[in-house]
Amino acid sequence: MRVLITGGAGFIGSHLAEALLAAGHRVTIMDDLSTGRFENIAHLVGQPAFQFAIDSITNDMVLDRLTSECDMVFHLAAAVGVELIVRQPVHTIQTNVMGTEAVLRTAARYRARVLIASTSEVYGKGSRVPFSEEDDVLLGPTKKNRWAYAASKMVDEFLGLAYYHEKNLPVTIMRFFNTVGPRQTGRYGMVVPRLVGQTLAGQPLTVYGDGQQSRCFCDVADVVRAALALAERSDTVGEVFNVGGTEEITILNLARLILQVLTPQSPPTADDPRIRFVPYADAYAPGFEDMRRRVPDTSKLYALTGWTPAVPLAETIQRVADALRR
Ligand code: UDP
Repeated sequence: MRVLITGGAGFIGSHLAEALLAAGHRVTIMDDLSTGRFENIAHLVGQPAFQFAIDSITNDMVLDRLTSECDMVFHLAAAVGVELIVRQPVHTIQTNVMGTEAVLRTAARYRARVLIASTSEVYGKGSRVPFSEEDDVLLGPTKKNRWAYAASKMVDEFLGLAYYHEKNLPVTIMRFFNTVGPRQTGRYGMVVPRLVGQTLAGQPLTVYGDGQQSRCFCDVADVVRAALALAERSDTVGEVFNVGGTEEITILNLARLILQVLTPQSPPTADDPRIRFVPYADAYAPGFEDMRRRVPDTSKLYALTGWTPAVPLAETIQRVADALRR
């Protein structure tokens, strides 16, 4: 197959590119390097089955040419990371909504299969655990920037499903939960690379709030495996799938696990001075709303593809640390 990955120089996109190339496909990456990094794909340059274009998906001419040469598009280009979103809401809404519309419009021209990366953020602050694809969503008020991201990705999902229903375009929505692994940067707020980096630098680990908020982290290798499994099947078209880890952990326990894995000579104590609690108001803007728990129900994905996550969190932490050291 010939596959286009928008946002392919990003964290997940670059791992997906590697996996597709390893499976014998031709891969083209389109990335404006706004949050993606050329270093993420530099090692792929020169492979005959690989090409890239450093450009924005809002450049219609380039997007059209690259899409016309492909059978499948993984649309991963988006404004991501809670910190970035809170700081640049206009950029977030523009990139996510207009960019996705451009990708779908162009894919429809060539009848390319599209897989759209969405996010668990669309569940908002819903309190039902675990989150299932058919659940109602509960977003906060429009005056809080954080929800601009969730709303923009919801519009992406609506657009994708609309192109499927109205124009018969084969579209699948992947709702990624907290994905972690090498190449993810802590620059935009992501907790694992941030706390791992702090540990390696001998700095205090910043745990926001009381640290009792919880997440399910999933290794990027598992997430890529899920994306490929969804792409392989035609009965995933017109459907939405959660993709995420199933082991729930509080952020405080995550900080402890990171210390345990990376500093085995001095394991964490109950009141470890290396862990620093930071009030949300200092970490983000005043009035910031965090999600207390976020757990995916992945039974729909499992039922169709047999997918379950395989990499334990301790191993991911070690991989992230190894990559950061390099
Ligand atoms: N967080 C933290 N310290 C940090 C960065 C993040 O305690 O240095 C918390 C954040 O408030 C959230 C969780 O870790 O509760 C996960 O944050 P992340 O930005 O990685 O993903 P989110 O689930 O918020 O999209």
